[in-house]
Amino acid sequence: MASIADYTGNSARANVEKALAAAKSNESYHALLSLTEARALKRADAVDRGEITGRLAGVPFVVKDNFLAFGAPTTAASKMLENFDAPLQATAVEKLEAEGAICIGKANLDAFAHGGSTENSAFGPTKNAHDQGRVAGGSSGGSAVVTALDIVPFALGTDTGGSIRQPASFNGVVGVKPTYGAVSRYGVVAMASSTDTIGCFATNADDAALVMGVMTGRDVRDMTTLPDFFVPTTGVRPQKIGLIREYMSDDVDGEVRMAIEKYVDRLRAAGHTVEEVSLPAVKYALAMYYIIVPAEVSSNLARYDGIRYGHRAEGVQTLAELYGRSRDEGFVTENKRRIMIGSYVLSSGFFDAYYQQAQKARTILINEYNTLFENYDLLIGPVAPTPAFRLGENTADPVKMYLADIMTVPPSLAGLPAISVPGGTSASGLPIGVQLIGPQKSDATLLALAASVEGSQ
Ligand code: GLN
Repeated sequence: MASIADYTGNSARANVEKALAAAKSNESYHALLSLTEARALKRADAVDRGEITGRLAGVPFVVKDNFLAFGAPTTAASKMLENFDAPLQATAVEKLEAEGAICIGKANLDAFAHGGSTENSAFGPTKNAHDQGRVAGGSSGGSAVVTALDIVPFALGTDTGGSIRQPASFNGVVGVKPTYGAVSRYGVVAMASSTDTIGCFATNADDAALVMGVMTGRDVRDMTTLPDFFVPTTGVRPQKIGLIREYMSDDVDGEVRMAIEKYVDRLRAAGHTVEEVSLPAVKYALAMYYIIVPAEVSSNLARYDGIRYGHRAEGVQTLAELYGRSRDEGFVTENKRRIMIGSYVLSSGFFDAYYQQAQKARTILINEYNTLFENYDLLIGPVAPTPAFRLGENTADPVKMYLADIMTVPPSLAGLPAISVPGGTSASGLPIGVQLIGPQKSDATLLALAASVEGSQ
């Protein structure tokens, strides 16, 4: 796979034309919902004339279609926003453009980022880059696949409970979910505000660090953003690493466990220490997540009322019918399921029993992480219990689909940085990712560690 350095210094127009041609010849994967061709070529010419310069001058990239970006509609892969043209661009996109990067298209996702396979897209699923019979992972499936297919050297995604890490793992690329608040969420369609993060996919850890370094920092339009702490580094001192025991049980695919063990061997060979550790609260993490996230989803999706913007049902007689029919037609089943669960757990009779309890349990989980980080620099484990599953395998059973999130959800609940790095392939050639998790603001260290063992055996 190509790296960012393979693009810098070339003619921007040649880079963009090549990326557009690759996007078109790989249409069967359904990784992209639209191309921003006219705007991309115009920007490429401006770069070639020297009017736009920067660290990413002339480098093509793709954004998940829940980022507000010019050149094509911002759909969030939903009928609700099918024809929505963004009035502004996300801060993350603006920052990349200010460094000369060129967005060439918008990637498929689970509608409103609700899912882990991209099968919840209102416009049809994305196929895995290594096996078209399997899922791309999700919700940022399209962004992972365009990176794995070498259409672009990096792509943007959002990660609320695993949506960057899991598709990165399923497609064999690097995926970064930063510390909560590292990158502005301004101009990105909200899912669950207390765990939503903006990150990227790249073909190697150094490129991911370069892209994250451009996007991080305080934004007055997102008051949860942190002052910039991200300084790309090279070389790491020997790290003390905890291997999370709960994620290496017999329930986890044998080939996945073997891939983790091999990566641990590589870390040890590079001089790092790896010891088994326990994080008992993770067994409750899915229960917490699937209460807290739907609660926030139900609130964030309330704005789609068929009046202000988004899809409006036709031929309605009453206001209630306008709300009801617009939302029924605009949302997919999974969106509706989360709105209903969220409304239920927030309702006055059940708030204490579910939402409040889940938030208390979340604090217990955060405390367990904090205790581990008193003795360990970072943690390691799988990204998902299995490699990419088959298209349709989990669609009939939402709980089965949710179970695939068991390893990515805990760092999200704690706001921790976590990355997915390639850890080899299964016997049938499916990529397997390794997850590295660190304390808040350790993002650059995680990437430097990954870079330092990249290519080692
Ligand atoms: N698969 C998880 C979910 O469905 C994560 C989604 C995400 O990170 N956007 O909630």
